[in-house]
Amino acid sequence: MLLALISDIHGNLQALEAILGRIEAMGIEEVVCLGDVVGYGADPNACLDRVRSVCTRVIMGNHDAAAVGMTSVEYFNSAARTAALWTGGQLSEENKAYLRSLPYGADFDRFRIVHATPDDPPAWKYLLTADSALLQFDYFSGSLLFYGHTHVPLTFDLSEAGDIAVSEEYELRLEEGHRYIINTGSVGQPRDGDPRAAFAVFDREKLRVTILREKYDIELAQRAILAAGLPPVLADRLSYGS
Ligand code: ZN
Repeated sequence: MLLALISDIHGNLQALEAILGRIEAMGIEEVVCLGDVVGYGADPNACLDRVRSVCTRVIMGNHDAAAVGMTSVEYFNSAARTAALWTGGQLSEENKAYLRSLPYGADFDRFRIVHATPDDPPAWKYLLTADSALLQFDYFSGSLLFYGHTHVPLTFDLSEAGDIAVSEEYELRLEEGHRYIINTGSVGQPRDGDPRAAFAVFDREKLRVTILREKYDIELAQRAILAAGLPPVLADRLSYGS
């Protein structure tokens, strides 16, 4: 059975619709969301409505928490802070209550999901290096953890001997005895130099994880950001995937 994992949508409705179209075309039965549905983009309510109707599980991201005053925006850059305040003002009461209710992680049959890191999810740490990943393997049981937050697809592969390998491969066959921490990339604001929307598909029978990229109407998302009066840098970066 196929499962799609989507993360860091960031109010980008055009990117979200594009990947949901692909997910439906692939006949994927279940979709889960790793957080940051809102923040940066122009359509926070529409993205939340779609995610709530499509996803079986959704967890809290730092921008979701910031939009409803549950985490400090002190460490946000000025564009992110502006977007968080704007997003908070746009959200319907129902969507605000929904965001406040989100958990910081969720467990499934074969894996766990968190937005940032499993040791302390609300600390919102960025997991990008083998050294920091090695410590994180102590904070979940089972062999597989999916995360988001950095907007960069990346896999940390821990062998039985304790060796860690970092991979940017998009096709991964999970090996017996190994443990994995996998970043699914970002739907709505990729930062790996590829502007296409990213998400992951997990084949639970074949034990295969695939990162997929999907083109979407970037110009439309950019125009919506500018029309909303959000900082232009948030529109510009979508062109570069940075
Ligand atoms: Zn994010």
